[in-house]
Amino acid sequence: MRRRSRAAWLAAPLAMLALGGLAASGAIGQSPAQPDAGEWPGTGRTADEQHYSPLDAINAENVSELGLAWYADLTTDRGQEATPLVVDGMLYNIEPWNITTAYDAATGEQLWRYDPEVPLRFGRLACCDIVTRGLAASDGKILIATLDGRLIALDAETGKPVWSVLTVDNEQGYTITGAPRVYGDKVLIGNGGAEIGVRGYVSAYDVASGEMLWRFHTVPGNPANGFENAAMEMAAQTWTGEWWRGGGGGTAWDSISHDPELGLVYIGTGNGSPWVRKFRSPGGGDNLFLASIVALDIETGEYRWHYQTTPGEEWDYTATQNMVLADLPIEGRMRRVLMQAPKNGFFYVLDRETGELISAQPFVPTNWASGIDMATGRPIETAEARYGNVPVMVSPSAGGAHNWNPMAYSPLTGLVYLPVTETYMAYAAADSWEPGRSSGMAYTGNDALRREIAEYADAHSKGWLSAWDPVTQTERWRVPYAQKGSGGVLATAGNLVFQGTIGTTFAAYRADTGEKMWEMPVQNVPIAAPITYMAGGEQYIAVNAGWGGGLAHVERSAFSELFLGKPRLLVFKLGGRTQLPPAPERSLAVPELSAPPPLAAPAATVAQGEALYAANCGLCHGAAGRGGVKDLRHMSPETHENFLAIVLHGTRAAQGMASFADVLSENQAEAIHHYLIARANEDWTGS
Ligand code: CA
Repeated sequence: MRRRSRAAWLAAPLAMLALGGLAASGAIGQSPAQPDAGEWPGTGRTADEQHYSPLDAINAENVSELGLAWYADLTTDRGQEATPLVVDGMLYNIEPWNITTAYDAATGEQLWRYDPEVPLRFGRLACCDIVTRGLAASDGKILIATLDGRLIALDAETGKPVWSVLTVDNEQGYTITGAPRVYGDKVLIGNGGAEIGVRGYVSAYDVASGEMLWRFHTVPGNPANGFENAAMEMAAQTWTGEWWRGGGGGTAWDSISHDPELGLVYIGTGNGSPWVRKFRSPGGGDNLFLASIVALDIETGEYRWHYQTTPGEEWDYTATQNMVLADLPIEGRMRRVLMQAPKNGFFYVLDRETGELISAQPFVPTNWASGIDMATGRPIETAEARYGNVPVMVSPSAGGAHNWNPMAYSPLTGLVYLPVTETYMAYAAADSWEPGRSSGMAYTGNDALRREIAEYADAHSKGWLSAWDPVTQTERWRVPYAQKGSGGVLATAGNLVFQGTIGTTFAAYRADTGEKMWEMPVQNVPIAAPITYMAGGEQYIAVNAGWGGGLAHVERSAFSELFLGKPRLLVFKLGGRTQLPPAPERSLAVPELSAPPPLAAPAATVAQGEALYAANCGLCHGAAGRGGVKDLRHMSPETHENFLAIVLHGTRAAQGMASFADVLSENQAEAIHHYLIARANEDWTGS
């Protein structure tokens, strides 16, 4: 498919400047193997993860005529975080439990559906919902990675499995929610589970056969077992005590990008396991390679360089957010850069050949660090950031100033379009810690102070779409939203930026000014990143709309006013006239409130239940029973009646609530029930 002629707006001085700069550089060539302009063959479209398309048939002049072309109902009412793919006229989608579907990209006709039948017990291990963020394509194959850790190659025409390999030890707490990436003859995949005590790694497999080619661990293991390579030996110097008992974490659960000219692959790594550093590394230390960007040789998986965004991480400040590669004019010369806006609130620009820090500036209020010392490349931490056992309010929160929702970069405007969240959170260390599910965070005690911080966080957290200039490290424009929680971003050569909004709409803004050009109600929140493609001579925009994921997991109650309809894949084109069915009468997000049963248990039982809840349930159902995937303060009489059957016998496993009979006795489950009844009575405001 040929690149279409540029729209008139390209004559604008801003765009000319950007193009002129690139052309004049001369030193840096075009990246090889650019895909067809009309396709979206990888999760970030290209290996540089720009989430940018050169298509401009839909542009700022005509986007007001955009309408729904077709839609498909999705099967699971949980977070829809996947970026679809389009290859050879087919659109490939993936949703929770890794159900994978192929459609005719022009008509929406479903061509095949593949269900890898993930055992539902793995829902318990997923910290942040049973989500998946995408899939990969190569030479007639579609690659998916499942929640239970399999990497599966499907025949792109039929959806039938070609090969399948297990990439993790299912006896440990591993899950996969990230998208595989295909680079040439290799497919790369990481994993998650740093909240459950795993040791992170990324692996490369042969696309043709599924044979493993290399594996790189992101944190060192037990020295008694020998280090896998010199990088692990180096990393071990930055850990103390018996760090391997907690797994270490550093999981590469989302972001991977690749520069084929340099032969490097970049891995974004996650938080420490457990969160609290004194428990995993009692003598302190930077704990490499937590919260880092690590460059590896694509052929061998050997370490080349790293940059650690948060040394000695203990705030869940993952550096797993998408890493965008671009060539930028900085101080008079073109630099090959890597850009990341991780959870910790600073926007980093690195030289992607050497790992040198070029610049870093905060894009939200941050109180854990006042800035980045350019001489050392290290954050200038504030005194209160390293918390003890009294809760302190830290910004950003564990949810991050920017999470997995992809940012986009337009080489035409030179701007990064970043979904930003301003957040605050109470951090406190527990008195003690043992390996297992616990992060070492204290969810008990200091309730008044914790609630005061939670109220401040609720009142002050917000979200916006930021157009960030990575050369000057300043914000060019901003679209504010009423709440946090808006989606990933697509930038196009039509001078447009597309984003799903927390207002249950899908919107388009001018890329150069931020002016809203189009918006449509879609009955749900598209938190995923949109894509665009050509089919039958027309340009389409597609996005998954389905609220859920980590933010909803922890704080679903904070969004109870959201009106949510069915989760759907939505596809738009100019002049599209398809209508969604009428919205349901009752929002899927609002529980029927019932008065809680009276509290009958003694305080000691409630206290026992509180501790057990924090260790076993809070990850999915929210701290202090507040929010989560299902707000347990608002259980129906039927749920109260069947509480033990649900918790111990897995009667709601199909909805993701697996049995806890392996870790909880009947008495313990009852104590948790009493605690939840106490919390419900405490917060009950109904009549
Ligand atoms: Ca985490």
